[in-house]
Amino acid sequence: MKMQVTVIIMVCCVAISCARDITKVTIAKKPLPDNFTVAQPEKIAVTNDAVTCTIYAKRFAQGNVAYCEIIPARDVKSLSVKFIDTEIVLSKKKWGYRGFFAIDPDLKPGVYHCAIHGDTFHIEIPVTIKRSFFPVSVIPMEFDKFSQKDYIETPEVKQFIAECTKKKQKAFATRFDDCIQSPPYYPLNTHAINSAFWAKRRYLLYDSSTKKRQTVTRIHRGIDLNGNSGEPVYAVLDGIVVLADKLFYEGNMVIINHGNGIFSYYMHMEKLMVSSGDRVVAGQLIGAVGSTGMSTGPHLHVSLMVHGVQANPLSLLVLPIKK
Ligand SMILES: [Zn+2]
Repeated sequence: MKMQVTVIIMVCCVAISCARDITKVTIAKKPLPDNFTVAQPEKIAVTNDAVTCTIYAKRFAQGNVAYCEIIPARDVKSLSVKFIDTEIVLSKKKWGYRGFFAIDPDLKPGVYHCAIHGDTFHIEIPVTIKRSFFPVSVIPMEFDKFSQKDYIETPEVKQFIAECTKKKQKAFATRFDDCIQSPPYYPLNTHAINSAFWAKRRYLLYDSSTKKRQTVTRIHRGIDLNGNSGEPVYAVLDGIVVLADKLFYEGNMVIINHGNGIFSYYMHMEKLMVSSGDRVVAGQLIGAVGSTGMSTGPHLHVSLMVHGVQANPLSLLVLPIKK
């Protein structure tokens, strides 16, 4: 039997603008679990007569999110920042400008440049990107309903998968201004990693009916955190819920748009406690840990995407985001 590999393609198109106000919300007691410690982030700072620029990352390494602050010495008519070829969306604050970018997990380690261009200045800041360790795990798995072509290709299931894909595309196509007002929160009350970010997973598939074996490799585009069914799941940053629904592979899923092209999403939940359109704050209860969709046991899958690039969501927690 042939293994069906489903690739989810995210296409950006239209924008939505509805957002309900917060009515009654539950917020996590603490931003971080007791057993999760944050080290000082790495920092690159450049100052000259025209501008001060500071970039932070947990490590300037593959798969981490970076945060930059730009303070021009005088008012500027135009300001743009690029990391390699990606334009970083900036938000104007009272003290200057800020923006986020993700270091692509597949970017080759080496020296790259962050270019800051204002009407009267242009600076190029070298950023050395280091290698991250992404583990390879081998997972023996019996053919189950998710990998059976006969099951996936029934008209009802095919139609449902297509509807789920459309819902995700619509959610990821939404565009908002920067919603981030408060520091990031850890999404659970306890910290234990089940499966690492960007792990290469080799599924050894075995079909007991045909006695055939097959290996399929997939990249884990988020992080799996250990949790028991029913445990609270919190939003990692302020934002607007753009999807809260039960999907085929992801189970009960929430996608939050934090503005400026930053999305976090949460999968396999037992319950959803928010609806599409809700405005949420960092640390707000959004659901409960579960094992819905393509999941082998209760856990929380969390992903972070910045300008279309996947980043390790835990790398966000060390960033000194300034209001
Ligand atoms: Zn996962």
